[in-house]
Amino acid sequence: MFVTQLSCWACGLHYSPDTLLNLCTCGKPLRVDYDLAAAGRAVSPALLTGRPRNLWRYRELLPLPDGYEIPTLGEGGTPLLPADALGEELGMEPGCLFIKDEALNPTGSFKARGMAVAVPMAKHLGATRLAVPSAGNAGGALAAYAALAGLEAFIFMPSDVPAANRLECEIAGAQLTLVDGLITDCAHIVQQRKEAEGWFDMSTLREPYRVEGKKTMGYEIAEQMGWTLPDVILYPTGGGTGLVGMWKAFDEMEQMGWIDSRRPRMISVQAAGCAPIERAFASKASHATMFENAHTVAAGLRVPRAIGDFIMLDILRKSGGSAIAIEDAELMDEAYHLGAATGICACPEGGACLAALTKLIANGHVETDETVVLFNTGTGVKYAEAFAAYPRPQL
Ligand SMILES: *Cc1c(COP(=O)(O)O)cnc(C)c1O
Ligand SMILES: [Zn+2]
Repeated sequence: MFVTQLSCWACGLHYSPDTLLNLCTCGKPLRVDYDLAAAGRAVSPALLTGRPRNLWRYRELLPLPDGYEIPTLGEGGTPLLPADALGEELGMEPGCLFIKDEALNPTGSFKARGMAVAVPMAKHLGATRLAVPSAGNAGGALAAYAALAGLEAFIFMPSDVPAANRLECEIAGAQLTLVDGLITDCAHIVQQRKEAEGWFDMSTLREPYRVEGKKTMGYEIAEQMGWTLPDVILYPTGGGTGLVGMWKAFDEMEQMGWIDSRRPRMISVQAAGCAPIERAFASKASHATMFENAHTVAAGLRVPRAIGDFIMLDILRKSGGSAIAIEDAELMDEAYHLGAATGICACPEGGACLAALTKLIANGHVETDETVVLFNTGTGVKYAEAFAAYPRPQL
């Protein structure tokens, strides 16, 4: 195990990795630091080849202690699918468009990656009751991994989340509370009650280890592309663990000598009805403000305020990327389009990425011979209500 310390993403203060922690005393998220020189001596791209295709393939770069028996539902190891036919429709050269299909994860979304690492870490550090506010998929993933670990899960969701998200919590035996409000209202309840209830708060970026699970998407893309990175990554952004995690993975890989210093332009895709990062990026702000009256059918994007806003905005700028917001009707149309063109069970968030790519090609921000990875972050079958509300456009 090569973790050396936790350090604050904002003020740099260090903490021991042996205690169960949420935020820095300054109120900002904590980052997990590794001895990358030592990790790089213990593992290399060549040594990975024979390992199983799940995220524990990168275990030297993950926080669980040596000898810890890792509980798994088979998370990670998702395919990077070439999408030439779709690329051709968009005017792209062959071999340029790839889709990272996260729908194949346990619980049908990439939230499984984060919880697969954060739940056993919370258990290892002494937590027994885990709580999370969720716009949908995080709750289902916590429920599943808490069940696997034998811990209690307390999940707070807006009452209008997709039925599938409620159901998966019920199936996995979690305590589910529906709240009339948004994820920020759910978060408020967790904050207020956690002390008295003995809950450990598993909210996005309010504990350090979900990012560690999510960063494996960055390792996988690099490995699947032969230890190079694409020119552009389109990522549907809510709380931001995916963006933050992948960017961290790129830095770690560079420090270990696995990749060079070139980075993809990171494109944050949000829904027009809830686009705090897009708005902050456009106004050149370093932090985002609360997005009032947030609404979108893309449940994973309904995050009106994110504690990691400043980290995301920094990544978008450093990478030469941007942020883009898509109307619900358009992202739903593009989810159907993505599904019909590729066979992938597209979710609304994946549709948003396709809509964004179409715009970026049209306005010349993405060249037709650049390599692009587009994320489908979850499975479309969890969004029956959204697809019913937006019938398929006539073909
Ligand atoms: C949570 C979620 C997102 C947003 O992910 P973050 O990494 O939290 O920004 C995107 N798509 C789906 C399907 C999600 O569940
Ligand atoms: Zn701090």
